[in-house]
Amino acid sequence: MISSTQTRKPGHLPYRQAKFLCGATQHARFPSDQGREVAFAGRSNVGKSSAINTITGVRALARTSKTPGRTQQINFFQLDEERRLVDLPGYGYAKVPESIRQAWGTMVGNYLHKRRSLQGVVLLMDIRRPLTTLDRQLVDWCRAAELPLLAVLTKCDKLSRARARTARRETLSELNESGHEEEVTLFSATQREGIEEVRQHLDHWLSGE
Ligand code: GDP
Repeated sequence: MISSTQTRKPGHLPYRQAKFLCGATQHARFPSDQGREVAFAGRSNVGKSSAINTITGVRALARTSKTPGRTQQINFFQLDEERRLVDLPGYGYAKVPESIRQAWGTMVGNYLHKRRSLQGVVLLMDIRRPLTTLDRQLVDWCRAAELPLLAVLTKCDKLSRARARTARRETLSELNESGHEEEVTLFSATQREGIEEVRQHLDHWLSGE
């Protein structure tokens, strides 16, 4: 059988085919660690579900991650047999008890360090408040695990063009002041901005080309 990787046109991964596969908190319950996957991370309410839905073109896809019982899980979405998108639980919600906060850290930290099929992380941050302490923690974990990272500034429609560009420039220099070369993209689900940039990164990470 010819694999879909060989028949696929460059730059056209089957995002619209994305389907919920499973949600889990433990390594043993994750899908088999084969093929390639990209994870989405960010604070609660940053616009992560809206971004996943917009990028895949499947309107209610990430709503699955918001159903009761699934919000603290790592949720896996399958694109095809070899590729997945992964929705990491949102963090930074003030009312979450300390025990859940710690469980989040252990689960997400372990996932980022141990998951061999993980090819890259999309870190979503509200353009009006990027690089909070927990965002930086995530950046540090990705760097420690040598995972490529794309920073996405969400809800950029909330700022004027000029302010959005300034926010991007500032985030870029803060992020890369230690000599790293991570990219920063402006994104708006409501204005459908930045979708192509994010898809290009996903295409690259998920196809290995
Ligand atoms: P999540 O908790 O990170 O999954 O965030 P959601 O996708 O549920 O979005 C949280 C809130 O932000 C909702 O009220 C959305 O309507 C709003 N939101 C999401 N994306 C955008 C965007 O691009 N622009 C604006 N203005 N609001 C957005």
